[in-house]
Amino acid sequence: MLNFYPGPSRVNSKIPRYMLDAYREGVVSINHRSPDFIEISKSCQKQLRKKLNIPADYSIFYTSSATETWEIIAQSLIQKSSYHVFNGDFGEKWFAYTQKLHPKSTGYEFSYDHALKLDEINVPSQAEVICLTQNETSNATQIPDSFIGEIRRKYTNRLIAVDVTSSLAGINLSLKNADIWFASVQKCFGLPAGLGLMICSPEAIEYAKKVGNRQHYNSLSAMVEKMKDYQTTHTPNVLNIYLLQQVMRAAPKIGVTHDKTLKRFKNWVAFLSSFSSFQLLNSHPEIQSYTVLAIKGDEKLIGNIHQRARQAGIILGKGYGKFKENTVRIANFPAIKEREIKICQKFFKRGFE
Ligand SMILES: *Cc1c(COP(=O)(O)O)cnc(C)c1O
Repeated sequence: MLNFYPGPSRVNSKIPRYMLDAYREGVVSINHRSPDFIEISKSCQKQLRKKLNIPADYSIFYTSSATETWEIIAQSLIQKSSYHVFNGDFGEKWFAYTQKLHPKSTGYEFSYDHALKLDEINVPSQAEVICLTQNETSNATQIPDSFIGEIRRKYTNRLIAVDVTSSLAGINLSLKNADIWFASVQKCFGLPAGLGLMICSPEAIEYAKKVGNRQHYNSLSAMVEKMKDYQTTHTPNVLNIYLLQQVMRAAPKIGVTHDKTLKRFKNWVAFLSSFSSFQLLNSHPEIQSYTVLAIKGDEKLIGNIHQRARQAGIILGKGYGKFKENTVRIANFPAIKEREIKICQKFFKRGFE
């Protein structure tokens, strides 16, 4: 089966080999306090910094998922309230989870078919963290990297947290423009699910200290302490950390991957635009996600596309949330092969033109 699901997604083709290596080298059984683990963790972080341009003074933490990170932020970096800007299901879920812990948190919801303007963002004076979903996987939109820079310049004295679950390692991001970035590895990294990454600025770490939350195993201050020795507060997904290290070691620098993602994105947009029975869900080129595409059509046609794709050995992404029945999502993640894209496009051309 060819997999275009936007997460969990097609894994990097070298994964079977790396998994066998991990088994043979005994990695799958090592203790998470051992020098062997520390070595892997250290090397993983070194590769991440090098390949993703992570600023030298930012810290990298392992989590179990992006969802866990929403909660870490709520517990460790918010005392009273946060401000959420969102246009789709993931951003809304993050807002809803945070509100359960901090009922005073507020949000600004904009339409999935609208390009956000800076004057729409009015962060209340008491909001400590501005929460953005850079790549909204549910409706295939993005907040452009440059726009996050504009928010940064407008709000210099707040923490900015950015959900990049389905774009980190797929596109180039100016990480200096925010304080907390997080993702899970089953999307652009092309790894099996069960590991997340949280990247924090010195200001975020400092603020966590000030908030002083220590009630949880995943309180950020406790994570910081363990990470001094490249460790975690719990037994982490050692195998996945090892795989991440291997995948990053073999990966080109993010600039190269970014160009590949963008080129493929443009090719997909041009290709999909030639069909009259369905359209791209979002028609604004400046806010279309580079890593996930979504097409919209009537429910019968969309159902038909999914079913016939399966018969042809192609898994396409189901619609999400309110677009569940009338959209198809297509991952444009780096692990997907050129040849697979060609087969998928041929399937559309033969069946639906
Ligand atoms: C997939 C996704 C999540 C959730 O990731 P988990 O690893 O399941 O926690 C959160 N945010 C966005 C934008 C996503 O695409």
